[in-house]
Amino acid sequence: MKDVHIHFHKQPYTIDVVQNIIEVGKKRGIDEFYLLDHTHKFQEFSFLYQLKKDEFTFNHYKNKKYIPINEYLDFIDLVKRSGLEEKYNVKLLFGLEVCYFKEFEKELKEELSKYKFDFLIGSVHHIDGFAFDLDKESWIGRDVDKLYDRYYSIMEDLIKSKLFNHLAHPDSIKIFDYFPSFSLTSRYEKIAKLLFEYHMTTENNSGFDRYGLTNIGLNDEFYDILVKNKVTIYKASDAHDYTYIGNKFECLR
Ligand SMILES: [Zn+2]
Ligand SMILES: [Zn+2]
Repeated sequence: MKDVHIHFHKQPYTIDVVQNIIEVGKKRGIDEFYLLDHTHKFQEFSFLYQLKKDEFTFNHYKNKKYIPINEYLDFIDLVKRSGLEEKYNVKLLFGLEVCYFKEFEKELKEELSKYKFDFLIGSVHHIDGFAFDLDKESWIGRDVDKLYDRYYSIMEDLIKSKLFNHLAHPDSIKIFDYFPSFSLTSRYEKIAKLLFEYHMTTENNSGFDRYGLTNIGLNDEFYDILVKNKVTIYKASDAHDYTYIGNKFECLR
């Protein structure tokens, strides 16, 4: 079984960490590991996060320390030469989780073309400058209907950009239990049709468990619409440390 979304995050780039990842994963039935980090970890992508559109988001990123992406790329080489895949009889793939911004599509394309990752995941983490998944308080006073409407419009642009082979957590906007007043059925249908048309996969993500959400994973309606449109859905832990790999997969469809 695959876990298509596993972060290194704050764990160091060492062989020991990869061994821990494999050992925990194997106990939970995982033998294909999609390892990645966020673009907001790397200097080469820091241009994405200088937007001053939203004060809360700007303050979050303004003192962030970025590392050169070569630290990650050198580590990938090291792991690929380490023989870990043969030793444990597993598959290790390396990629990036990319924050998608329509206004930086050209620059993103140019930067991404410099690297040869096994996979690229596209994510909507920002809505018109607002990083909506950081803090529940930051939602107070916002127009929830408008946020949902823009979230799915940005996701459509993400898919059409052809920059990615996989879409992350397509309902992450529910993270703090805010829901729109209108039905999302037509938006789900549109996303599903586009994913199929652009040959992209997506995921059922158990990562919300870390935020204490009980309703983890895709809602049934969205899941069924994706299946009906023949979109491939993989399970994903969104683990930010190795103890969460394959976490709660038994609760996901
Ligand atoms: Zn994400
Ligand atoms: Zn993630």
